[in-house]
Parts: sequence; C-alpha cells; structure tokens
Amino acid sequence: MNSLNTKHALQQADAAHHIHPFTNTRELNARGVRVITSAKGVYLQDADNNQILDGMSGLWCVNVGHGRMEIVDAVTKQLEKLAYYNTFFNTTHPSVVELSRLLSEVTPANFNHFHFTGSGSESNDTIFRLARYYWELMDKPEKKIVLARRGGYHGSTVTAASLGGFPSMHKQGGMVVPDVFHAPAPSWWAEGGDLTPEAFGLRVAHQTLELIDAIGAHRVAAMIGEPIMGAGGVIIPPATYWPTLAKGLKERDILFISDEVICGFGRTGHWFGHEMMGTSPDFMTMAKGISSGYIPLGAVAISDRVANVLLEKGDEFAHGFTYSGHPAACAAAIANLNIMRSERLVEYVRDDIGPYLQAKWKALAAHPMVGEAVMEGLIGAFQFTPDKNARSFFPEEAKIGLTARDFSFDNGLVMRAVGDRMVIAPPLVLTRQEADELISKAEKVIDLTYAHARSHGLMG
Ligand SMILES: *Cc1c(COP(=O)(O)O)cnc(C)c1O
Repeated sequence: MNSLNTKHALQQADAAHHIHPFTNTRELNARGVRVITSAKGVYLQDADNNQILDGMSGLWCVNVGHGRMEIVDAVTKQLEKLAYYNTFFNTTHPSVVELSRLLSEVTPANFNHFHFTGSGSESNDTIFRLARYYWELMDKPEKKIVLARRGGYHGSTVTAASLGGFPSMHKQGGMVVPDVFHAPAPSWWAEGGDLTPEAFGLRVAHQTLELIDAIGAHRVAAMIGEPIMGAGGVIIPPATYWPTLAKGLKERDILFISDEVICGFGRTGHWFGHEMMGTSPDFMTMAKGISSGYIPLGAVAISDRVANVLLEKGDEFAHGFTYSGHPAACAAAIANLNIMRSERLVEYVRDDIGPYLQAKWKALAAHPMVGEAVMEGLIGAFQFTPDKNARSFFPEEAKIGLTARDFSFDNGLVMRAVGDRMVIAPPLVLTRQEADELISKAEKVIDLTYAHARSHGLMG
C-alpha cells in the first residue's frame, strides 16, 4: 500500500475509491482533484502550498473562520467527558440542554423549542413531517401539500431534494415525492423583463398565491423558502416579494418555513435572514452556520404556535436520528455561538464589513460583462452576460461560469459558479484588508473571463 503523503498519491487514491458529491467523478478523475490540506482564518492552503481566500466559507458554513481553537477545545473537552449518549429514551445531557437554551436566546421571541438533526436535509425532512403532523393534530388532515420554489435548495435527501427546485436533482431517483408543488422564484434579473424589481416582486408573490388558490388553500400545509436563495445563485428578492407573500399565507392559514441554513447565524447581518424580509416563520431550518461546520449539526426551530399544539395534543413523535443532539456537535455549536456573541459578528456584518464589501462588490457591475452585482450582509453574486442592456445569457455550452471558477481558484480566491452567476459568502470575520484582496481578485477573474469570452467570439 502506497502512503498518502504526496499530492499525486492522494489524487490517485481519491480517484480509485471516492465518489464525490455533486460531481461527475469520471471527469474529475481525468483532470485531477484539488487537495486542501489546512486552513486558518479566511485562508485555505492546498497541497502545493498555495494560499487561497475562502470566499465561500467552505460550503457557506465556516462563519467564524477556520482554525478557531475555542471550538476545537470545547469539542475535545466534550469528547473526553461524554463522547456520545442519545436523547431518545427519557434522557438528556448538559450540552444539548445548554444549546437549546442558547438558541432560544438568539432566535426571535416566539421560538423556544428545538429539535436536533445531523444536517439541513434531515432538518427539512423533519419539518415536512412536523408541519403535516401539526395539521393532523388540528383536525385538518387534508392540509398535506408543501409549497416550495423553483431554484430553491433544501438538501439532498429524498424529501429535501423534492422540496428543492432543481430539475437535475428531480430527474435522478424518482422525485418529486407526492404533495410537493413548486412556485416561481423572484429572479428579477433573469425573468423580470421590463418590470421594475418592485413590480416584479409583487407579480411573483401574487402568482404564488394564485397557485395556492388553484390547488386549494385548505389542502396546503406549509410553504418553504430561503430568505435569499443560496445555491440557486444568491437571488435577493425584491423588497415587495416576501411581505406580500407572508400576508397572503397568513390569510390562508398556511404555515411558513424559513430555511435559514445559509441565511441564519449572521450571514445577512441579522441573526436570521427572515428578520430583514418581513416574514414571521412557524419553523426555521438550521444547519451550516449553527456550528460553523466544525462538526455536522442541524436543528429545527419550532415556534410556540406549533410547539404548544405538539405538547398539548401530540403523541410520541415517532421520529429522530441516532445523532440528534450529539454531545460534541452541540459543544461545537455552543462555542461557535459564544464566539459570534462575544465578537459581535452579527453587528460587525451589519454595520461594518458588510457595507464595506457591498459597496466595492456592487461596483463590479460597471464592467461590460457584468449584468448585476448584488450583496446583502456577506452573501452576494454577480451575473456574467454577453449584453448587459438586453440582460441576455451566454450559451450553456460556453461554460463561462465554470471557466471563471477555475480562473478564480487559480488566482487564489474561491468563488462558486451557479450557471454564469458567480456567488460569494466569505467568513463573517473577514477584515477590510481581506475584503480588498477579495475584490481585486474578483476584478482579475472578471478581466480574464472577459478576455476569454472575447477571444472565443462570445461577447454580443
Ligand atoms: C445546504 C443547505 C441545505 C442542506 O443542508 P445539508 O447539511 O447539506 O443537508 C438545506 N437548505 C439550504 C438553504 C442549504 O443551503
């Protein structure tokens, strides 16, 4: 057996034995996988000793930055004391209790109960069941349908992927599960035509309510949405969209699920993304930033409206995971939330680094190849286009986004491509100097991609 102490040996063994998520592993093996070996603060280090600015916080999760010893120490202590015990059979343990109480402090006042899982996907599967169980307990078992949105991302288990609005996911493995419907997304740049963003936001909200009325509101249990669509390309909805929709859902007595897996825990400059969107959710989906990714953890926040019914009328909730409330994951989350509070990271994003990066990021839209550049808090995107006045798209086979993603990585910045939209969500601890570096690297990527597009005759 070869030892795995060179990049080449790692690549070979990875190709031989590892099937990657969201990857064509055959194509990846042909080109050679990137190897990341360590990370500190906002920087990754790869096997060639390149230093790369992690503009995606891993996968939107490492909010407090890499290498935080406070979290490492808390997890180590917890593992030494109690590595594992379950929370199923009338037992609990200190770290899950402390985390539950801490979450009730950082969430809005009507959230006081939490159920734990291992991921965002599991949290959404749990909420799918809980929302329908709530209506069964309310003697309205006909309320079963859950409305989601095209372009929404809610995870990869069968139910979560069904809630998501990605045809590429639905077509593998027999999804969508019954009783899930999809409404349009509030993607103004791509679909807004001649409408102002405000008018377009109203139109999509009304189309969604019309869809509900066509289905029959008496059959709709809940609607799920991310405050800002993340994996769908960082779609920041027009200001009119969520308030109109939230009011319509309330009038129809439909529960609202805010999927806060990306937008929660400070990403938008608020503790939770819905707080800036004018919605008042009955459930929140949590994962990623809850533990900054140090240990896998998901949670479901259950509002008093739902929790009271569960506690008063419910039987045993026949649901749970072996690792629900895992002691080490809870310890990581507690240490993570303590960092967020003591370093006032939500306020830092809202008042300082957020506005600082946003101003520079939005200025990228001056480039002839950039159609729009948007950012809230520290989550943003810009759109490549061959003709910014026509808001037109490059042909898919031109692979502009993927080309730019490679230019970016090779120039020391991780940006993700969603089609030809480049997205970014750096750690919340980003300094101004690091923000300047991020912007100058993004500018370089845009220039390189522009030269590439022109030399291939792709610009309009
Ligand atoms: C990542 C993500 C999920 C799924 O979380 P996993 O931990 O990957 O299962 C759900 N919702 C949103 C909004 C996400 O970004």
